[in-house]
Amino acid sequence: MAKVKCQNGCQQFFHETTDQFDPEATPHGGMFSLMEPFRSNGWNSFPEHVGVVGSALECPDCGAPYADSSNRVKLDGDHVPTSAPPPTAADVIPDIIAHVLALSAEGKKPGEIGAVVGLSHKKVGALIKKHGQG
Ligand SMILES: [Zn+2]
Repeated sequence: MAKVKCQNGCQQFFHETTDQFDPEATPHGGMFSLMEPFRSNGWNSFPEHVGVVGSALECPDCGAPYADSSNRVKLDGDHVPTSAPPPTAADVIPDIIAHVLALSAEGKKPGEIGAVVGLSHKKVGALIKKHGQG
């Protein structure tokens, strides 16, 4: 069973899929089951049977339809990016320093290094002074 995300509204999870759920089929009420503790708390939700389709399948909290414009619902875990997130500035800066020092160790001048890493020769010089050894 997978949780159904309120993709058009509050982005929360109130229903999970049932055995009837088929991602290739038109979603209907029988494919979804109101989760606990909402069910026990008496939340008012759409009837969980095959006759309930389209915009009737709506979030019991905010009322947004679960299905998107192509009549697909979004499940928890759908489209999770598998690649690493883009590096933040904090990740990049040590890389630049390491790059600068490596080029410096090869005997490159600050102006040449700056052209490679995208810094002014003054900044390159300052980095080498601050982080370099010797
Ligand atoms: Zn919602």
